[in-house]
Amino acid sequence: MELLLEQIATADLSQVIQPRVVKVSRYAPLTRAQFDAWRPLWPMNFREHRERFAGFNEEELACATTHMRRAIQLAVDAKEQGESSMAAILVDPTENRLVACAHDTRNADGHPLHHAVMNCISAAAACQRPSKEASEIPPTVDERPVDVPQKRDIDTALADDSPDKAVPMGAYLCNGLDLYATHEPCAMCSMALLHSRIGRVFYALPSTTTGALGSCYRVHAQPGLNHKFLVYRGLLADEAVQAGLE
Ligand SMILES: [Zn+2]
Repeated sequence: MELLLEQIATADLSQVIQPRVVKVSRYAPLTRAQFDAWRPLWPMNFREHRERFAGFNEEELACATTHMRRAIQLAVDAKEQGESSMAAILVDPTENRLVACAHDTRNADGHPLHHAVMNCISAAAACQRPSKEASEIPPTVDERPVDVPQKRDIDTALADDSPDKAVPMGAYLCNGLDLYATHEPCAMCSMALLHSRIGRVFYALPSTTTGALGSCYRVHAQPGLNHKFLVYRGLLADEAVQAGLE
């Protein structure tokens, strides 16, 4: 910089050229706003991701905050029961229908895999079970798989609390569904969501040491995997912290 200033002064260009130091992004812009702000400083290209940046209207935002508040309350309840304060909710966005909700039950079950998201997926499977039991599962098969948490620990709920209204979702348990989680899912839960063909994931708080949807890994956008899904982080993060979630 000093050499440049010296050369400008020598060439008597100080009235024409006034150099300054500015920071530029090392990454490509992800939003139109970033692109507009950065391009005067540095040449760059931008291809807008229509689906990712479609934005939410007021009604969608109201629905999302309602579901996340329910997840936060469920996590608070879990904490009062001596569990980790983590919870998750599955919603069918086409009908705004609650499919399942669950909190972490690792302490109560003494089972290291009973994370909130895993429990929630198991609860979604339980919603489909009546139709499967009737048509597919032989009567000699145990009704409860080994890793499905006890019914008392999972708040499985349909919109009208009627198991008769269970809607089979096909081979993939969470196909097209939204997950609302108080915390960023770990690698195990993220892979379970991927295998279940989740549509979108919203979480409030990032998990800086184990998070697999943005913090430590990006499972939802991993090249080579056969399913990708959208992730929105930070929804009601302040409310989650105020509620005592960590
Ligand atoms: Zn997990």
